[in-house]
Amino acid sequence: MNVILMGPPGAGKGTQADLIKANFPIPHISTGDMFRDAVSKGTDLGKEAKKYMDSGQLVPDEVTIGIVEERLAQDDCKKGFLLDGFPRTVKQAEALDRALAQIGKKVEAAIDIYVPEDVLVERISGRISCKNCKAVYHLTFNPPAKAGVCDKCGGELVQRSDDQGEAVKKRLEVYAEQTNPLIEYYEKQGTLHRIDGNRNTMEVFADIKKVMESL
Ligand code: ADP
Ligand code: ADP
Ligand code: ZN
Repeated sequence: MNVILMGPPGAGKGTQADLIKANFPIPHISTGDMFRDAVSKGTDLGKEAKKYMDSGQLVPDEVTIGIVEERLAQDDCKKGFLLDGFPRTVKQAEALDRALAQIGKKVEAAIDIYVPEDVLVERISGRISCKNCKAVYHLTFNPPAKAGVCDKCGGELVQRSDDQGEAVKKRLEVYAEQTNPLIEYYEKQGTLHRIDGNRNTMEVFADIKKVMESL
């Protein structure tokens, strides 16, 4: 199962990826998580990525493609993978296709979660996540039992710096410009599945599960 999850910031990719991971035995590869991890560790990659992430821009393709290729070469990806937040540009999609072709694989499903922009802004501005285990909550739609504390591990819940201020608007613009063309890209390949993400989490997941089970 080689699957990619697409959708604008706030569409619910991370939330759905957690459910997919619990139901299908494939690793979840999120480029956003990989970059945030590098930033928090203060590595060279993190220092480079932070410049772009803070302003809501994409990290350059060469950097991003490199870390994904390295990750896909690891053993646990032999049985398949769930890519979340990659590809985000046509260049990245082409590089992914080339890298997979070299090992006799291809993208089997591109799942695009679509949500109206006003709902995206509401979701992004209320998103909080655990500093420790990275679990994602929402102040209104999915609040923790105790304010500021992770239900799963007791860790501290914080807001992402790029979920505030100008970076939110910029990310939505960048998505419309640079990532939307991928819908046509995968439609042409015959692998596109569009899912209405403006429903409750389990309804969205039921449709994604059907797609995954059909592979
Ligand atoms: P969201 O969950 O809001 O869609 P992500 O966590 O996927 O956001 O990404 C956060 C930031 O990390 C992006 O704004 C961008 O700067 C960087 N990033 C993540 N994935 C990519 C990618 N495939 N290409 C370039 N930059 C990326
Ligand atoms: P993405 O990874 O696409 O940026 P997330 O999965 O982090 O999106 O979700 C963004 C925010 O919206 C989070 O606060 C999450 O709890 C909330 N959320 C996710 N799915 C839904 C849904 N179906 N209904 C309401 N809120 C949701
Ligand atoms: Zn936690």
